[in-house]
Amino acid sequence: MTKKQIALKAVEALKNEYPDAICSLTYDDPLQLLIATRLAAQCTDARVNMVTPALFERFKTAEDFANATYDEVGEYIKTCGLYKTKSKDLVEIGKMLVNDYDSVVPDSLDELIKLPGIGRKTANLVMGDIFKKPAVVVDTHCIRITRRLGLHTEKDAKKIEFILRDLLPQTESNDFCHRIVLHGRAVCTARKAMCDKCCMADFCRKKP
Ligand code: SF4
Repeated sequence: MTKKQIALKAVEALKNEYPDAICSLTYDDPLQLLIATRLAAQCTDARVNMVTPALFERFKTAEDFANATYDEVGEYIKTCGLYKTKSKDLVEIGKMLVNDYDSVVPDSLDELIKLPGIGRKTANLVMGDIFKKPAVVVDTHCIRITRRLGLHTEKDAKKIEFILRDLLPQTESNDFCHRIVLHGRAVCTARKAMCDKCCMADFCRKKP
């Protein structure tokens, strides 16, 4: 079976297994998803969802973040880990959005990754979930499972993103990435691949 065939089978298998492919972060607009995703680095989505209601109540716009101090933002996100770096990024994101983008979150991956603390993973998430453009969100679950499936032998997220862009249908790639996170938490975890419970066991190259 070719890698393309495995990828297409994986898309269908995961679609059947996890019909609801949604981001587990809570947000109402592009700015909130951008901020929530930045906070989610080295932190669980559940923890982020606990701090963002108060954060977004206080800081509603890019201007609100731009006009805040790092310490003020930090008070709201202390439990998210690395909060000093993250609070600085949130304020600087606000300033750049105000100064360079008319306070609007840009709908271009190349522009999004210019924002402080925003990498390709976050930018792809915003592109897919907010702007409904083809996106490949490569997180730790995606790296691990797509390697186990036999779609690549890489460790570098950017290389994997481009490989998956070639293998996955554009209309499916964003949902595929959401579903693979669910599968990585439930079945094909970092500690143990529970192949006997896996919907992709028939074609996975790692399965014993
Ligand atoms: S068959 Fe096993 S290794 Fe392959 S994706 Fe499923 S759980 Fe992971």
